[in-house]
Amino acid sequence: MSIRPLVILPDSKLRLVSKPIKEITSEIRQLADDMLETMYDAPGVGLAAIQIGVPVRMVTMDVSKSEDERQPMVLINPEILWASEEKRVYEEGCLSIPEYYEEVERPDRVRFRYMNLQGETIEQDADGLLATCVQHEIDHLNGVLFIDYLSKLKRDRVMTKFKKAARREAGV
Ligand code: ZN
Repeated sequence: MSIRPLVILPDSKLRLVSKPIKEITSEIRQLADDMLETMYDAPGVGLAAIQIGVPVRMVTMDVSKSEDERQPMVLINPEILWASEEKRVYEEGCLSIPEYYEEVERPDRVRFRYMNLQGETIEQDADGLLATCVQHEIDHLNGVLFIDYLSKLKRDRVMTKFKKAARREAGV
C-alpha cells in the first residue's frame, strides 16, 4: 500500500467524468488499498479515485469516525437509485479543496447500489453522514465538486484563492 499525492483544486482532472470499471483486476485492488491508505492518512471520510488522478469509478469511504473501529468501504461503479425529497444541510469539506468548509444542502436519505471488491452487487440505504458522503463522492466521478452547489460569489472566491495558491506553488 502507498499514500498517493492528492489532486488539488484548480486541477482540471477534477472535472473529468470517470470511466466504469469492467473487471476487478489486481490493479483495481491495489488502487483500492492505496485510496484507503491515502484517505486515512489525510485524514478524510471519503475519497474518489480521480482525487489521486485515476479516472475510474471507484470510491472509498469510512464514516465510522473512530480509529479503533475502522469500517472501510470500497464502492465500485456506485450509483444513486433513489433520493428523498427531504433535504439536509451539512458542512462539507473535500480533500481536493483543503481547509475549506461550507454548508451544502442535499437529499437527506438515499438508496445506492455498488459492486464491492468481491464482485458482489450491493444495495444500501443511507442517511446522515453516510448519505452526504456517498452523494459527494459519486459527484466526483461525474466531475462535480461540492463548491458547485454554492453561490457564484462564494465559488468564485474559493476558485480565486486556490488559483493563487497554485501559482505560488509553481513559482509564477
Ligand atoms: Zn471531495
